[in-house]
Amino acid sequence: MTRQAVTIRKALYEAARDLHSAGIETSVLDAQVLLGEVLHKNRTALIASEPFEQLSLEQYKRYRSLLELRCSGECVAYLIGRREFWGLDIQVGQAVLVPRPETETLVEAALSLLVPDSKSTVLDLCTGSGAVAVALKHERPGCTIYASDISKDALVVAQENARLLCENAITFIHSDLFEHITGSFDLITANPPYIPTDLIKLLPPEVQHEPIIALDGGLDGLSLIRKLIAQAAAYLAPGASLLIEADPSQMPKLKQLFALNAYQDIRFWHDLSARQRVIGGNTKQ
Ligand code: GLN
Repeated sequence: MTRQAVTIRKALYEAARDLHSAGIETSVLDAQVLLGEVLHKNRTALIASEPFEQLSLEQYKRYRSLLELRCSGECVAYLIGRREFWGLDIQVGQAVLVPRPETETLVEAALSLLVPDSKSTVLDLCTGSGAVAVALKHERPGCTIYASDISKDALVVAQENARLLCENAITFIHSDLFEHITGSFDLITANPPYIPTDLIKLLPPEVQHEPIIALDGGLDGLSLIRKLIAQAAAYLAPGASLLIEADPSQMPKLKQLFALNAYQDIRFWHDLSARQRVIGGNTKQ
């Protein structure tokens, strides 16, 4: 018996319908990205391709299995193994948080403090996939970049990103916050876990598939951030900066913590929704 041929057009139509019924808001986009993955075409090439082009049985089966996982709440980035961040293709896996657009604010803030030919020494704490560290090395190749994480599995992913995107020019350190960090830095960046424990279960299903260690910030979301702000000053050169991403609702509290720990010139950077997403402060000159 011959299978009725499935065309690109039909496959996309069916997929978007199934994803939509599963409550996925980005059904059309996800259908395109996943089919592009199966056919080894980027989204633009897929959209431009002949709609009656047929999928092989293998391709169709693979497409359906990816769709099933997506319908069960797994995010597209884990399914295809990468996510674009700062224009770079960042490899991701279950060991790391998928880089968010709002975290690009942290990169923007850091770049605003580093002149283009900067030779500064930068530490990216809680680096996860290494997205921030890699973006900084990409934009400021003269800087010396260190990146650390408590998770060895995350560091494997981060190292792979450094290999693919910046010729391994980042030094990785396995460390719980500053536990194994030595030396003094001109800039420290961090996107630490900052979600209050009780709120995690209320987040969308995609987030439930992400590593809890990258999200859980304790009772009020600030347990790591408190330590980080208090400890960082000892690792910053005079006049150097600390930049932290957190939830906009947490920023008044973070401002107090920065002030309590004697940071100066405390200021904010805003995400694309114009909300305070990154706070920065300097040590005394
Ligand atoms: N921005 C992430 C979210 O809202 C949280 C990231 C974090 O805890 N560092 O899902």
